[in-house]
Amino acid sequence: MNYQSTRGGAERVSAAQAIKQGLASDGGLFLPEELPHFAEGELEKIGKMDYPHRAAHILAKFLTDYTEAELLADCTQAYGESRFPGGAAPIADYSDSVKILELWHGPTCAFKDMALQIMPRLLSRALTKTGERRTALILVATSGDTGKAALEGYRDIPGVKIQVFYPVDGVSKIQKRQMATQEGANVQVCAIRGNFDHAQNGVKRLFADRELADELNGDKVFLSSANSINWGRLAPQIVYYVSAYCDMVSQGTLAMGEALTVCVPTGNFGNIFAAFLAKQMGLPIGRLICASNQNNVLTDFLKTGVYDRNREFYTTISPSMDILISSNLERLLYLLGGAEQTAGYMAALTEQGKYEISAHLKARIAEHFVGGFSTEEQTRATIHEAFGNGYLCDTHTAVALHCALNDQKENPGEKILVVSTASPYKFAASVLSSISDKIPADEFDAIDALERTSNTKAPAPLAALWNKTVRFDGVIDAHEMRDAVLDFARS
Ligand SMILES: *Cc1c(COP(=O)(O)O)cnc(C)c1O
Repeated sequence: MNYQSTRGGAERVSAAQAIKQGLASDGGLFLPEELPHFAEGELEKIGKMDYPHRAAHILAKFLTDYTEAELLADCTQAYGESRFPGGAAPIADYSDSVKILELWHGPTCAFKDMALQIMPRLLSRALTKTGERRTALILVATSGDTGKAALEGYRDIPGVKIQVFYPVDGVSKIQKRQMATQEGANVQVCAIRGNFDHAQNGVKRLFADRELADELNGDKVFLSSANSINWGRLAPQIVYYVSAYCDMVSQGTLAMGEALTVCVPTGNFGNIFAAFLAKQMGLPIGRLICASNQNNVLTDFLKTGVYDRNREFYTTISPSMDILISSNLERLLYLLGGAEQTAGYMAALTEQGKYEISAHLKARIAEHFVGGFSTEEQTRATIHEAFGNGYLCDTHTAVALHCALNDQKENPGEKILVVSTASPYKFAASVLSSISDKIPADEFDAIDALERTSNTKAPAPLAALWNKTVRFDGVIDAHEMRDAVLDFARS
């Protein structure tokens, strides 16, 4: 199976090359030339497998230049008991017709682990498969969650090093501790004086620095990114939708073939797009509900056909969805509208921050997607209501649950899968203040207080944080990043 660009460039590459390269040469995103389809009886077969086998089976359809043995070895390490003690993608009950897919039982307690536990292994093999002799140095600027998930994913992966930059005053105390105590022989974490923009612009400058690339090349190192638009991060996300559907059939919630509505808390449009790909492969998904927070650029887009990023940016209690440019939407435009239109829309987005899709494309998207959003107040009220119903959820999950419960009022009887993307303990302070009138002194206290108030237990990786040794405690200026990269590359 070969991969091509969403913007119509002539280049055709293997899966390994697409994963190594990240972005297509014309600036577009990679997608397979043709999507695979489930055969008659195949879902029943998949339903009998454990999660690592399900993942290897589905990835084998897309990564045809990887052997099944390679994929199974990688999936077993990525999704086995040691990384996901609670199971990789378990389903919780909310009501008879609303189920919750919990994607946060991995090492960093957020759904990014689902992709970042496997993607580094796929990249490491891609380097070998493409004859790459140099070490890939992954640079990440993070405002929190992605950095930690990437560190956990890339630690001790052969052929790769990872260096993460975060703004010293721009992440939470928990996030700082998570990164400062990171284990692994090939990792480094640097705090930057300044805000997230300083860290991100610093990393962008390093990627654009030709002389740096030459110097690193002399040391047999090249720079690479862990971007969420990489196909190696997207493909593994298809798996849990298939897995959840099979589990719901074996649990008796669904009859095989029955349509399932899926509701996803959305930021960059990666997670929900993976659900769409599963549907295109023949998984019986009905409607896809795209749930946004107050940054509801996607809700407006789905309603009007106009994507307009020129709007106020809100900082919300679901920060991983505070996004105004949903990069993976480009892949949907391409699949339903074609490369030529997509290239035009993306050029308009760059030039004017805005584009309007054709009425035809808008109608095609509406065959699959509806949009909804949740205000801050509604998100808090949903956490409160869900807790009253016996389910403790985080702020991102609450955005989706709000949209799902609203949708069900209009479509009584439909079965909905709500995707849960973070442990409530990851956002303990916001969750605690939504279910009680307690205001914790800091986030550490919030974890304790949330345990007592909700009578649940914090996940082990968060509870264990205080006993870990701090390995990285230096703070540097943004102009020192270049030297820090060279030092680390040569270490
Ligand atoms: C990244 C993230 C999202 C958004 O996922 P996309 O694939 O970017 O749409 C939602 N919730 C949490 C907790 C996240 O970390």
